[in-house]
Amino acid sequence: MEKSITLTIGKRKNIALIAHDGKKDEMIKWCQKHKHILQNHNLCGTGTTSRLITDYTELQVKGYNSGPLGGDQQIGAKIVEGRIDFVIFFSDPLAAQPHDPDVKALLRIAQVYDIPIANNIATADFLITSPLMDMEYEHEVMNFSENIRNRVEKLLK
Ligand code: PGA
Repeated sequence: MEKSITLTIGKRKNIALIAHDGKKDEMIKWCQKHKHILQNHNLCGTGTTSRLITDYTELQVKGYNSGPLGGDQQIGAKIVEGRIDFVIFFSDPLAAQPHDPDVKALLRIAQVYDIPIANNIATADFLITSPLMDMEYEHEVMNFSENIRNRVEKLLK
């Protein structure tokens, strides 16, 4: 069996939007600026962030739980399931977060699944204006069935 498998990020992306409290203003302004692009994709986000974006931009954003109440973990789980393939995450580097382990877990799982993820405005601007936003994108991720098979084999020895 192959060590990696090819997954496709569709033309219409499944985008998660998350902003810590100190960054919510920036997120709303960023969404207003790129509304004409964002409206062509499926949007979701943590509870408070998505409500604010919808209120200020009229973009439809499916809301999960608030970040400190598990919203980041829900988004991480959707990445694992292949239901989220693009993340804008304006974390606040100057404020301690009660859910810091969840934040780290989300960053890590996005890395494992080779998910584009922006953590500041400049990166988000570059990502959202990429020609790849209008195309399908194929990428390689670890073949998890093969990984489990190998681990089971090794542990049974
Ligand atoms: P919130 O969560 O959108 O509910 O504020 C964001 C976060 O702190 O992760």
